[in-house]
Amino acid sequence: MAEGLIHTIGKDHELRTPAPEDILDGIDGDVAVVMLTQVDYRTGRLHDMAAITQAAHAAGAVMIWDLAHSVGALPIGMAGSRAEFAVGCTYKYLNGGPGAPAFIHVRPDIAEEVEPALAGWLGHDAPFAMERSYRPAMSTERLRVGTPPVVQMTILDRALDVWEGVDMTDIRAASVRARRAVHRRGRAPLPRPHASPRNPGGRGSQVSFAFEYGYPAMQALIDRGVIGDFRAPDIKRFGFTPLYVDEADVLAAAETLETVIGEELWRDPKYQTRSRVT
Ligand SMILES: *Cc1c(COP(=O)(O)O)cnc(C)c1O
Repeated sequence: MAEGLIHTIGKDHELRTPAPEDILDGIDGDVAVVMLTQVDYRTGRLHDMAAITQAAHAAGAVMIWDLAHSVGALPIGMAGSRAEFAVGCTYKYLNGGPGAPAFIHVRPDIAEEVEPALAGWLGHDAPFAMERSYRPAMSTERLRVGTPPVVQMTILDRALDVWEGVDMTDIRAASVRARRAVHRRGRAPLPRPHASPRNPGGRGSQVSFAFEYGYPAMQALIDRGVIGDFRAPDIKRFGFTPLYVDEADVLAAAETLETVIGEELWRDPKYQTRSRVT
């Protein structure tokens, strides 16, 4: 997306993609925008939102957080960070289902200043007045382009009902407990160390294992009711949603992982053909 945007803007911006541990050092006066996924989709590494946003602002850059792996997974503290923007999806930890709408957050004090890249009719201040020219809505609404996906929004609305009265710090504590349990059991049979940071507070709500035969191993797991995903080149990734998944589920999944790896069930030829979605 950043490459495409740079191409569209046509002002010779440069896209830099430093390693996660080099992000802070890479933010200097040349940087216009820092765009970062708070929880690394591969390893689950959790970036320090406050420190990185502060560094971006000190360098005169705009901060955009991608919360795809944060929302519904951990307490975020968006308002406290003072970051200008955040985006994310609602089909991961919020379980909005396939095709669930994305979201954008704009810091309230700039919501009436930002200009949408695409000025669309439902971002108009009065879409049904059918005026000849565009006047942006005086809120985040202006970033809406067209008709929202109403069916998917309705499903998401129901998916969000279970969060009523839920404290994210309780969710976080349950996630830490579950991840500890799977780490203790799941690590043993794997030939290589796990890929996630060791400290549970330093990652999101996922556990990743690096394993050379990760793709067929994940297929073998899915075949046995343990559904995670595979991210090239070698990451097996499991997400934990404590509202839906309890410790017994987690231990059962870890046992299945032990069996699949220990008995090399992933060697079955039917797991070897890689599909488009991994
Ligand atoms: C899943 C995910 C998204 C969501 O992308 P969609 O195009 O809405 O599916 C965004 N950013 C990251 C890092 C993700 O992992």
